[in-house]
Amino acid sequence: MHSISKKSLMILAVLILSMSFVLTRADFPQAMAADGGNWQDLGRQVLAQNDGWAAAEGGTTGGAKATPARISTVTNRKQLVQALGSNNTGADATPKIIFIKGIINGNEDDTGKPLTCQDYATNGYTLESYLKTYDPAVFGRTKVPSGPLEDARFASFLKQAARIQIHIPSNTTIIGDQAGARVIGTNFVVAHLIGINNPPVEDIVFKYAPVKNVIIRNIQFENAFDCFPQWDATDGANGNWNSWYDNMSIISGSNHVWIDHNSFTDGDKPDSQQPTHFGREYEQHDGELDITKGADLITVSWNRFSNHNKIMLIGSTDKPTFDVDKLRVTVHHNTFENSIQRTPRVRYGQVHIYNNYNNETDNPSLQYVLGVGILSKIFAQNNYYTLPTSKAVGKVIIKAYKGTVIHTEGDIVDKKPTDLLAAYNAAHDTTPLAGDVGWTPTFHGPVDPTQCVPSLVPRNAGVTRTFTVLQDSRANFSPSSCPTV
Ligand code: CA
Ligand code: CA
Repeated sequence: MHSISKKSLMILAVLILSMSFVLTRADFPQAMAADGGNWQDLGRQVLAQNDGWAAAEGGTTGGAKATPARISTVTNRKQLVQALGSNNTGADATPKIIFIKGIINGNEDDTGKPLTCQDYATNGYTLESYLKTYDPAVFGRTKVPSGPLEDARFASFLKQAARIQIHIPSNTTIIGDQAGARVIGTNFVVAHLIGINNPPVEDIVFKYAPVKNVIIRNIQFENAFDCFPQWDATDGANGNWNSWYDNMSIISGSNHVWIDHNSFTDGDKPDSQQPTHFGREYEQHDGELDITKGADLITVSWNRFSNHNKIMLIGSTDKPTFDVDKLRVTVHHNTFENSIQRTPRVRYGQVHIYNNYNNETDNPSLQYVLGVGILSKIFAQNNYYTLPTSKAVGKVIIKAYKGTVIHTEGDIVDKKPTDLLAAYNAAHDTTPLAGDVGWTPTFHGPVDPTQCVPSLVPRNAGVTRTFTVLQDSRANFSPSSCPTV
C-alpha cells in the first residue's frame, strides 16, 4: 500500500506538472497566423539590409540573439518592467524579445490597481490652487512659476514619471502580439536612466546614457498624458502649458533604432477636447515620437500617426550641443492623419522622408507638414498629400524655422504632381529656400511610385494582425496596378 500510494503521488505530481506546462502553453500559444507563419518567429526578424539609416554602420538586430530564457510574453506594466530588467533603468543589455499582449497601462501599481492623477499629487498640489497662485493677473507674465506650489507640482510630476516612463535598454525587440497590443498612458524612453536631478539643474531633470539596437513593432500607443503640465507665461506672446511625455522618446545619443508598424494616437483623450486655462489650451500631451538630444541612425517605417498636435520632433534645440552630425533618420511609408504640426519638424539631421501618406483632407487645423529647422537637411521624395481646401500648397506643407534648404521631388498633392519647393518659394519670394542639401540617401529600400502610395500605405501602415503584413508590407505589391498620373 505504502509504495503504491508513493507511486500514485508521483503520477499525480507528473500530471500536475504536465498540466501546468499545458496551462503555460495555453497562456502563450505558439499560434499559427491565419495567413501562415509563426508569429513568434517575428521576434527574431531584423531590419532589412539598407532599410534606412538604422541599417547603416552595422544594422539593427534588436533582441534577435535572445536565449529562450529571455523571450517572454507580458500582459501588464509590472511584467513588462521585469522582462526589460534592471528595475526600469534601461541598463540590461542582454538580448531580449518581448511580446506584448493586451493592454499595458502605465498608470497602474504593481498589484494592477489603476492610478489616477490624484494618486500622484503630493505636498498639497491641486490644479485649483496652482491656477489660483500662478494666474497671470496675480503672478504676472514675466517669469515661470516658482515657490512651494511649483515645487509640489514638480514632486507630483516625478511620482507620475517614475510610473509611466518605461526605459528601453540596448539589444531589445518588443512586438505586439497578433491578438493586439495597446500601451496606454505610457512614455517609452529609449535610453538608460542614470540619475535624477531634484531640483533640476539647468533645466535637466533626468540624466541618461545612450542605448543601441532596439526594435519596436506592432504596438498601439495611446494617450501618454501628463497629470501635471507646467505653466510657462514666458513661452510665446500669451504663455503656454507644457507637458513632458511623448508616446515614445528616442534620446540622449541612443542609436540603431527601428520603429515599425506602430499606431500612435491620443485615444480617448484628444487635444481637441482639452479645456483652456489662462486663455491657453491645457495641453497634456507632447510628441507622438520625438527623436532628440543626439539620437542617431533611426528608421521609422510603416507607422500610423493620427489625431494629435505635435507628431514627430527631430531635434529639440537650436543649440549645437548634441545634434551636429547626428539625428540621421529615415521616415518612410507612414500614414499621417489629422495632425497639426511636425510631421516631422527637423533640426540638424540628414532626414530621408519618402513614400509617406499625409491624409489631411478633413483637417482645417493643419499648420504645416515639414518643419525646416536650423541646419536641417531634409531629403523628401515621392510623398503623397491631401490637403483641406482652405490651405494653399505653398504655405502649409513646408515651413521654415531658421533652416535654409530642403530637397523635394516626385510629390503628389491632391492627385496633382507638385514641385513643393517651387510652390513654397512662389509663396515666399523674399525668403526662398535652396534645394541643395548636400547629400543623397544611400540607405533605403525600394522607393515606390508616388501614385501607389494611397493604395499601398494606409492599408499596410500601423498595427496589424496579419503575419505577412508585419513580415513584409510590400509582399504581393505590384506597381503596375497603381493608377497613372
Ligand atoms: Ca512640451
Ligand atoms: Ca518631446
